[in-house]
Amino acid sequence: MAVKRAANADMTAMQLFTVIPKFYGDKSNINPDRVKRFKAALAESKIKPQAVVVHAPYVLSVATPDDEKWARASGGLTKELERSSAIGAGCVCFHPGSAGTSERSASAKRIAKAIVVALETIDSSTRLLIENTAGAGRTMGRTADEVAEILADVPKSLRPRTGYGLDTCHLYSSGYDIAKSKKELTAVIDEFEKKTGEAPSFFHLNDSEGELGSNRDRHVLIGDGHIGEETFHWLMSDSRTNGVPLILETPQKNYDIADDDDSPDPYDVRMMRLLLS
Ligand SMILES: [Zn+2]
Repeated sequence: MAVKRAANADMTAMQLFTVIPKFYGDKSNINPDRVKRFKAALAESKIKPQAVVVHAPYVLSVATPDDEKWARASGGLTKELERSSAIGAGCVCFHPGSAGTSERSASAKRIAKAIVVALETIDSSTRLLIENTAGAGRTMGRTADEVAEILADVPKSLRPRTGYGLDTCHLYSSGYDIAKSKKELTAVIDEFEKKTGEAPSFFHLNDSEGELGSNRDRHVLIGDGHIGEETFHWLMSDSRTNGVPLILETPQKNYDIADDDDSPDPYDVRMMRLLLS
């Protein structure tokens, strides 16, 4: 039904959870029948499997210095890659989590290790991508340097199967002033591209309720926040948004919707019209 709702909003990419995101999901499998129905729905839509992004559970903090928690989070990430590969998704995106009281560079190594374990355990074409974060507390992945440092700790042979994506709300709330000018926005994406050695593999298009540098991860509809509509016009005209999934994580109008209702959310339709314009 998620595929149908996205397709009915005229989308050509989509993002979903394969498990309830506040749990580790480290033991959860997907019923093969659901996989079949998911693939059948995709085949009837304009959404290619490569444009399907799976968002890993939020609780998978593979940055943590706590060995026990790390093991469970790493197991959850590997399991997510397994489920996402089963449904044929193009990629999994995940928030690296918090370094806690540990040193950031040691934390970057733990994140990289979890990526390596997942990629070595699950051999598939589904990529595992880091999402830049809003930078609250000691969360990892808030700067281009940090994302680059994590990726640099992954052996070269596995590098093509990993990468990163950028969330506009997180960029802004972590202090990148992408709303200042087109030049500034371009410079920010340039910096990520230069430091990591590659362009972003997806974008999350969200406006920000929090101010510049507020470290708040609160998404609002495009045009309703501090970033504003114009930034998204600039972004859509950057060639690096071509051919990669562009995902809305903006609020829905109707959270209560019948299981068999395939109509798109009115807010999604509005956002799509805005982005296509
Ligand atoms: Zn996001």
